[in-house]
Amino acid sequence: MEKIGKEKPLDVFLKEGSQKNLHFYAPPEKGYNSTQLFHWTGHPFVDAGLVALLLIADKNSPEELVDEDIEKAIEFASKLYARKEWSSGYIHAMILPNSGILMANPSMARKRTPEAIAQNLKSLLEEPEDPNASICEICGRRHSRSKPVYRSDFPLVGTGGVPNYFPSAKDGLNVCSQCLFLVQFLPLVAYKVGRRVLVIHTYPYELMLELHGEALNDVRKNFLASNAMDFKRPENFLFHLLGELTGKTERDDLWANASITLYYFVNNNQGQELDIIHVPTPVLRFIAHASREDPKGWKRIVAMGWRKKPSEEEFEKYERSYANEVYAKLLAEESILPYFIDMKNRRANAKWSLLSFYCSEVLGLDREALEFIRDVGDRIVETLEKLPDNQLSRRVRELERARSSTSSRPSS
Ligand SMILES: [Zn+2]
Repeated sequence: MEKIGKEKPLDVFLKEGSQKNLHFYAPPEKGYNSTQLFHWTGHPFVDAGLVALLLIADKNSPEELVDEDIEKAIEFASKLYARKEWSSGYIHAMILPNSGILMANPSMARKRTPEAIAQNLKSLLEEPEDPNASICEICGRRHSRSKPVYRSDFPLVGTGGVPNYFPSAKDGLNVCSQCLFLVQFLPLVAYKVGRRVLVIHTYPYELMLELHGEALNDVRKNFLASNAMDFKRPENFLFHLLGELTGKTERDDLWANASITLYYFVNNNQGQELDIIHVPTPVLRFIAHASREDPKGWKRIVAMGWRKKPSEEEFEKYERSYANEVYAKLLAEESILPYFIDMKNRRANAKWSLLSFYCSEVLGLDREALEFIRDVGDRIVETLEKLPDNQLSRRVRELERARSSTSSRPSS
């Protein structure tokens, strides 16, 4: 029998372990040291900030970031954030109302300069860590900041003067200065969709770079926050983006077990709202498959999701603005089978291969059952083909109305 050695008491074990895990953090003597300073956290807003840093530096993972990348990102963000369109029209109005760090507070308008904002961002990284403070609730790697953090500096976390909002009735959120630093870059990659902003959080994290790349491209082109190609609904935008991305790349591995959640929110002095929309993984796989294997068929299916079917020219307008039943059903994990058939024009909307993929991957239908159904279908067609023209339409109508194997039996 294997002998289990004497283990250490839990507190000793944790103490040693935590020191081992924290070796990457060297408290800066002067300035900051970005050696493995940032990590993916699993928190949508902090990870979005990290995505902005990576996209600006054109890098794929946090380990690749060096000091110059951070400097560059600070400079890039500060120049934009000092502009009125960003400061009052976007940061203050939608994400971080009255932000002191980003100087979006209207009272700071006259003192607001790129240099002053850059200085605020840098000083976050230089903040000393208080070893007696609670551990950061987001990364779990560092002690939280001693200065309280409210919704003016971190979206949707409540405000000063309402300590009952926070755990342990503490004044403000337990967040470390690094996570707080990262979240200041969120505005660069968020999409403005209607009256709110959208963050698409994913696993694998790498996928987030793909899905938010478009936002930073827009910022680089127009010096304004991305308006998500003028989409007014977050789910419509996501389906469009997924179609574009999966049609372009052959990276099935990226989508195979991906997890995507949309955070659609607004955080301002008038109110704080948040919708969380989770996209089921089989649905993602289906969209990836449809965009590549049968994009036209998929478009016809989507077009059936509006009460009034759009013409070819109207499709884009509908896609940008109106709620779609097919999208809604996919997200709610309800069947979209009826949309594969265009009853009015008596035709199939998509290829058999797409229907079969949907049935097996999303509905979880057995392959054999599927083959059986296909076989029955083929035999019906074979029989019908042999009928003289005058009996054909009658028999088809009978079959369409049939609810059981006997109700379609010929009456004479
Ligand atoms: Zn943290």
